[in-house]
Amino acid sequence: MNLKTLSNRINRLDQSKPKVGFPESCTCFPPNEHPTLGLRPEREAVASVLCPLHGKRFSTFRWPPFHSTRPSHWKAMWKDKSAQYRKAMKASFRSDRWPAVGTIDQSGILCFVLKDGTEISRETLVPLFEDNHQQALAKDGRPMYAAVPNASLVGPPPGSQELAYFTEDDEWRYHD
Ligand SMILES: [Zn+2]
Repeated sequence: MNLKTLSNRINRLDQSKPKVGFPESCTCFPPNEHPTLGLRPEREAVASVLCPLHGKRFSTFRWPPFHSTRPSHWKAMWKDKSAQYRKAMKASFRSDRWPAVGTIDQSGILCFVLKDGTEISRETLVPLFEDNHQQALAKDGRPMYAAVPNASLVGPPPGSQELAYFTEDDEWRYHD
């Protein structure tokens, strides 16, 4: 077979392939991009939503590559994924419950809470320490805690009854 014949044959094969793409109303995850979600309530939410065309929207979860108590449904976690993955994620989380908001109390306990009050994660944060073994404080005196990756979280003002809040729009709060 000469090259020209081969090239013609490949062209014919290309034309006979089904068109790649997802129908407008399909909310399935792409077969090669399994949903990446670390918290059980997030996985339950994603699994409970069906595609109007195909029903079950994915075959398995992809686990996060590192242990994280950070919610994986926050938009920063999937903004670089394919258009179909983003569509599938948007269809997964009802806006009357999601996204979660993070709170830190005076004891350094970090919780993520949904709009209906459901707590989806809770952990005790590890304080950050300076080289001189003093606990690291933000410029305004608030305690700082270690976070992943390479970031820190800032708690509420010391001695107050307040909580520190952060949302998916804040990202992790990097310090100066
Ligand atoms: Zn579908």
